[in-house]
Amino acid sequence: MSARESVRQKASITRVTLERCPRCLLHLRLCLCSIVAPIELATRVVVLRHRREFHKPTNTGRLVPIALGASEVRTFDDMLQLGRVATSFDLTSSLTIVPAVSYIRGPNATGPGASTSILGFDFYGKWKPLSNDHGWPFVTLQAEWMQRDLDAAAQELEDGTILPSEQLVDRGLYLQGTWGFTRRWVAGLRFDWFEGDESPYTDRALDPLRDRRERWSTNLSFFPSEFSKLRLQYNWDDSEFFDADGSSLVLQFEYLYGAHGGHKF
Ligand SMILES: [Zn+2]
Repeated sequence: MSARESVRQKASITRVTLERCPRCLLHLRLCLCSIVAPIELATRVVVLRHRREFHKPTNTGRLVPIALGASEVRTFDDMLQLGRVATSFDLTSSLTIVPAVSYIRGPNATGPGASTSILGFDFYGKWKPLSNDHGWPFVTLQAEWMQRDLDAAAQELEDGTILPSEQLVDRGLYLQGTWGFTRRWVAGLRFDWFEGDESPYTDRALDPLRDRRERWSTNLSFFPSEFSKLRLQYNWDDSEFFDADGSSLVLQFEYLYGAHGGHKF
């Protein structure tokens, strides 16, 4: 036997004899799984692991969920990352605007490594003259636009076909104006719009969560007291999924019980 062959044979013996435990990934002779007595703690323990540690067999963090009942091992990619910046300007003594931007990113449930991010811009503006009667009259304008990028991991359907991974992009907005025309009365108008991009594997018109749709609505509210509200609202909806438009009428009564922000009424 040549020296090289002997080395090769030795290496293959090493590979066979040093089999790893499928649970903790340590060599069987180092595996502690059978002697670990799991402990139930009232506190949930989460180990944050660097993503490069994931494949390391010497990563002892893997023992944590084996030894502690309510515990788990996570990486930074498993956490939600979110940020929001908002600022307020008084354009005149009776006109204030609040523009803002928000972003959030985190893992989604379609498969390992798949994530979702949402970017949004919003705006609020209010006009209220300095001389007013308990806060009336006023005009507000509120708007928000957002976009979602969702990495959908590959899926196996019930009939065995594999849907490859794809990126789904949707976006939507709303615009809402209210007019407090006389004390205790507010009229409002609102527009909502949503649309998912076409993608090669999923037909958005067949998906009620990603089809194109819009709504116009108008409402009239009356505040009998500072704790209650009576509202009549009319909606007109048009959606690609239902392939038709529809109207609805809503009568709403709201009663607030408990702590509330200080304001004049
Ligand atoms: Zn083990």
